Amino acid sequence: MFQSCQLRSGFPEGEYNAPGFLQRMVGMIPMKKIGVLALQGGVEEHIAALLSASEKLGVPVQIAEVRAPDDLEGVDGIILPGGESTTLSKLIERAELAGGISHMRKVMGTCAGAILLAKKIEDGIEGQKPLCLMDISAKRNAYGSQLASFEATLTTIFGTINGVFIRAPKISIEGRGVQPLAFYGEEVVGAYQKKGERHFLAFAFHPELTSTKFHEFFIRL
Ligand code: GLN
Repeated sequence: MFQSCQLRSGFPEGEYNAPGFLQRMVGMIPMKKIGVLALQGGVEEHIAALLSASEKLGVPVQIAEVRAPDDLEGVDGIILPGGESTTLSKLIERAELAGGISHMRKVMGTCAGAILLAKKIEDGIEGQKPLCLMDISAKRNAYGSQLASFEATLTTIFGTINGVFIRAPKISIEGRGVQPLAFYGEEVVGAYQKKGERHFLAFAFHPELTSTKFHEFFIRL
């Protein structure tokens, strides 16, 4: 779905437009508005990946940092970055964002963000509430501690890419509607689910650090 952008004199703090050349033509070009949950974690890395994906595709994208329900105005899809899923759950609840996120047409979660999307969390803390948007389960810290972080070659639907794993969860597919997008050996580390007109993507690793392929895919959905 395209959002028509409005002519305005300045861009509010926390919003970015790309590419710059198209930005100057606001009012004429329909723009997709994508939110990045900006309560904690790898926010800037996702913004950078979205901007370069947008440039590669030649599709202008407006990016909104989402901290409160009002920030979701006109947002068509949102990225939930990595960080600490237990903290993120609490911050989402405090910011009253769970409802808004759950109604997005498309949502992509990386690492802690993927944990939030799951319908089941293994080794979560007591009271940690998943958003239950995807038929996957996520076992927290299943690849080891921060010190055990690693980079590995992954097989993905877009070919081979490097994947960075930082206290990554193990993702398991829990429903027939979920398709794998990326593998680390035999293990599914990226998954996609379409529910009606809605799209959900979860990654155990951090695609925003090494590739723009999945951000391009997300923009195009
Ligand atoms: N281990 C973290 C958690 O459980 C996720 C780590 C990350 O997002 N890089 O939330």
